[in-house]
Amino acid sequence: MGKYSSKINKIRTFALSLIFIGFIVMYAGIFFRSHFLVMSIFMILGLLFIIASTVVYFWIGLLSTKTIQVVCPNCGKQTKMLGRVDMCMYCNEPLTLDQSLEGKEFDEQYNRKQ
Ligand SMILES: [Zn+2]
Repeated sequence: MGKYSSKINKIRTFALSLIFIGFIVMYAGIFFRSHFLVMSIFMILGLLFIIASTVVYFWIGLLSTKTIQVVCPNCGKQTKMLGRVDMCMYCNEPLTLDQSLEGKEFDEQYNRKQ
């Protein structure tokens, strides 16, 4: 366990790291405040990362409308799943909607279209 996590959580972590990268890049720009052009480039780059993360957050919003609400059989909490197989957002229990995959070892490959 821990190798996989729920897809939405993964994307959320990605969006959050984009914000951090954006702030770090902008912060780095402060060290070049004597060179206005270099500082501006850093500021714009940082802003682009933050815009990218906003886009990713928007994408999560879109994806969320496609998720299916299920009650996790392991922890009993309501979780959202995306695709044929996903993981519980709370306890990482593998979940599937496909009867033929039930009991099989969790593999994210099942979500790829053949
Ligand atoms: Zn669970």
